[in-house]
Amino acid sequence: MMKSVHVIGGGLAGSELALQLANRGIKVYLHEMRPLESTGVHKTDKFAELVCSNSLKSEDLMNAEGSLKAELRILNSILLGVAEKCRVPAGKALAVDRECFSQRVSQMIDSHPNIEVIREVVTKPPEEKESICVLATGPATHEKLMEYLEGKYGKLLHFFDAVSPIVYAETIDFSKVFVGDRYGKGSGDYINCPMDEEDYRTFWESLVNAKVVPMEDFDRKYLFQRCQPIEEIARSGYDALRFGPLRPVGLKDPETGRTHYAVVQLRRENLEGSLYSLVGFQTRLTWKEQKRVLRLIPGLEKVEIARYGVMHRNSYIEANKILDIYLRCRDEPSTFIVGQLAGFEGYVSAIATGLYAAINIHRMYLGLSPVTLPSTTILGALVKAVIEYRGELKPLYPNFGILPFEGKSRLKNRGVIVKRALSSMEKFVKGEGAPWLVFKSA
Ligand SMILES: Cc1cc2nc3c(=O)[nH]c(=O)nc-3n(C[C@H](O)[C@H](O)[C@H](O)COP(=O)(O)OP(=O)(O)OC[C@H]3O[C@@H](n4cnc5c(N)ncnc54)[C@H](O)[C@@H]3O)c2cc1C
Repeated sequence: MMKSVHVIGGGLAGSELALQLANRGIKVYLHEMRPLESTGVHKTDKFAELVCSNSLKSEDLMNAEGSLKAELRILNSILLGVAEKCRVPAGKALAVDRECFSQRVSQMIDSHPNIEVIREVVTKPPEEKESICVLATGPATHEKLMEYLEGKYGKLLHFFDAVSPIVYAETIDFSKVFVGDRYGKGSGDYINCPMDEEDYRTFWESLVNAKVVPMEDFDRKYLFQRCQPIEEIARSGYDALRFGPLRPVGLKDPETGRTHYAVVQLRRENLEGSLYSLVGFQTRLTWKEQKRVLRLIPGLEKVEIARYGVMHRNSYIEANKILDIYLRCRDEPSTFIVGQLAGFEGYVSAIATGLYAAINIHRMYLGLSPVTLPSTTILGALVKAVIEYRGELKPLYPNFGILPFEGKSRLKNRGVIVKRALSSMEKFVKGEGAPWLVFKSA
């Protein structure tokens, strides 16, 4: 009989999992090392802190991140419910006030009668009979726990990921920027700093020559393609930014009706609108250089930075060699590994894998055997893609390429694939997965 669950790490995956299990009457011990030790990327001692962007990405069902969120709503994700309450306007994206988000999650955890929070650095999974352990320690797992994992499973893999700067709204020159969303989709949620060719050239030249913070083991080949530092994108060619994060398409200046040479976008960070983050501006420039280069952008000449961009090493296990399809260690089925540490990239994938592990831990608690999710769902396909990955695992995020499809073009048939994914998930929760939604709360 399973008595309790030890969750190591109160990030996105660990918080979703702890709350879901506790709501189902299961005793959860949540071990979190902050504030005793820092990860280098977290800034607070709160649970479910978003370390970089405040966006949980698109809500559009024709985007795999959007469909994954729709699946998580069918499974009653708690963190997505909180995100809804802390939403800030961001067009088709689900962006949140990060403080509101982590504050609310922390309050739910701290006040839950079935969760006991233990602030400590865990160096190896607790050995307790009749209990389950879940490692949800993320990309910046404490070195002592990494040592333990490396001793058991061999060297962890890694890549580099960077954070975008956040600036104070009151220091933006609103006479030089315009408000608007790409292709008018949204309610005027983004601030746009327009650049003409000369502005762009000056900015590009400064950026490629700016000083960066040196990093041990840094190699461009270990950069995460989807989240490259802006200076690295700039180095790949003069036009790379204009066709990347600074692309002006779909952004007409409301006064002149003109499309500019390049545009830097800023997205609202908090409910009050006092902070904005620069979209796609992950960087490892030194702080002094960040300030100098940002001030070359029209409208940001006097900008003050509230949080500087940083780069961080992102470590993960070879889940395809170590875990089974339920995300349990093959050699130790009472230990699960979820979230970014298991190679699932992004905030929503972390929440999703925490929820998936919770479904099976709840089943074990009820004396039922574990289940997989249909491979026609985005979450089912994502887990399968990581576990069945051939060769050296690269972190995976939701995309339509991982779903089974017989026809010629997945992209042209996204509507069909998404409809099938959502109806498969509905069927799952009414059938094999029914105990998940039909439960007695604590
Ligand atoms: C620099 C950087 C920027 C990123 N930017 C984005 C982004 O913009 N958008 C996006 O979707 N994803 C981003 N990610 C990727 C990823 O989605 C996030 O890191 C996400 O928070 C992962 O969730 P998690 O629950 O797996 O880990 P985390 O949210 O990091 O949670 C892990 C928790 O475990 C704790 N912990 C670690 N070791 C121990 C230990 N030994 N004992 C006790 N507690 C421990 C940590 O303090 C932390 O609270 C970024 C990652 C990094 C490193």
